[in-house]
Amino acid sequence: MTTRCFCLLVLLVALPASAQDAVLRADRMLDVRSGRLVSPAIVVIEDGRIAAINPASTPTITDELGDVTLVPGLIDMHTHLTGNIEEDAFLRPVRETPADQALRGAGNARTTLLAGFTTVRNLGSGGFSGAALARGVTGGYVTGPDIFDSGHALGVTGGHCDATGWAPGILELGPEQGVADGVDEVVKAVRYQIKHGAKVIKTCATAGVLSFEEAVGAQQYSSEELSAMVDEAARHGIKVAAHAHGSDGILAAVLAGVASIEHGSIMTDEIMQEMIARGTYLVPTTYLADAIPLETLPPVIRAKAEFVLPIMRQSLRRAIAAGVPIAFGTDAAVYPHGDNAREFAVMVSLGMSPIDAIRTATLAATDLLGVDDRGSIEVGKRADIVGVSGNPLEDITTLERVQFVMKEGRIYKGGN
Ligand SMILES: [Zn+2]
Repeated sequence: MTTRCFCLLVLLVALPASAQDAVLRADRMLDVRSGRLVSPAIVVIEDGRIAAINPASTPTITDELGDVTLVPGLIDMHTHLTGNIEEDAFLRPVRETPADQALRGAGNARTTLLAGFTTVRNLGSGGFSGAALARGVTGGYVTGPDIFDSGHALGVTGGHCDATGWAPGILELGPEQGVADGVDEVVKAVRYQIKHGAKVIKTCATAGVLSFEEAVGAQQYSSEELSAMVDEAARHGIKVAAHAHGSDGILAAVLAGVASIEHGSIMTDEIMQEMIARGTYLVPTTYLADAIPLETLPPVIRAKAEFVLPIMRQSLRRAIAAGVPIAFGTDAAVYPHGDNAREFAVMVSLGMSPIDAIRTATLAATDLLGVDDRGSIEVGKRADIVGVSGNPLEDITTLERVQFVMKEGRIYKGGN
């Protein structure tokens, strides 16, 4: 008995008192739920969480931020941290190792965090280098946003998520690398990605732009394959994000029960009504239409981009007007990492209010991720907080110039 009491005493002494990490004071804070600015804003951070907001007695301020609006840490639901588009990008699959990709990803992850994005989904193209990057951030030896990684994206043989453009025998991939045909291979591919760290399953329901198929929007997975994928992922508590440009493939993916349609270039009224009824998110990735370096693309790919990107903009305008659930995503890698926030201005230019645009990267993104520990500046949430000068409700582009970045209570930019 004495020994047990002694052990308990040691335990109590060893536990640190609740550590107060920081007390921020800023001129304004955005309440994303009400859409109102709170002024001033004193935010008390303890153990990486928000412990109090504007408490009755003012504690000692550790970081006086002044003429800044605090907003929740931003969330990008569609990044490719291990990639970027440069002259040699299309040869990398046969020239690089996963280590090259992961190290490039470490640089891009840091850039992304310093741009105010504290959480991202990383949707394929780097294989398991993305999962390694996610572990690096969790382990604290890589600076970056929290990463929900997909492992290899799932696609049909010869499709957008396969490695195409090579001679037979070169880069022939199987379910372990995400190339899976038929229900059995699809189920195996899902299980294998989850075994190796996938927190979301990415699939290519249709053809795409940055690959060597002829058509950009053709459906590639059957309804049966898509349903098997969604069902198997759901058994692990994991959602499916479906890259889809053409209408048939978008509708098939929505009806199969995917959680989000990525790009969603060619929408119909029927698709939009189904998405609204089911709560399926559109992750539009539309800024890239302004930024994609067309001159560096092979001719077949450039032609597809010039065809589909203007249509994508019009689909987003219609989806915003119809009230389709929208979560923020960018396809970062197709344009320089760190420019993610430029997507906000595109959404606003196509009819979305600034507060709704900010909600796509906060409340809507957390709903799509299936987490409730972030996405707003509220007591109990993770201290993922970004500061911008000016008022983002009046000038949405202020989000492109963040002054202050805190993730889980740790300051990465600005402060004091
Ligand atoms: Zn993408």
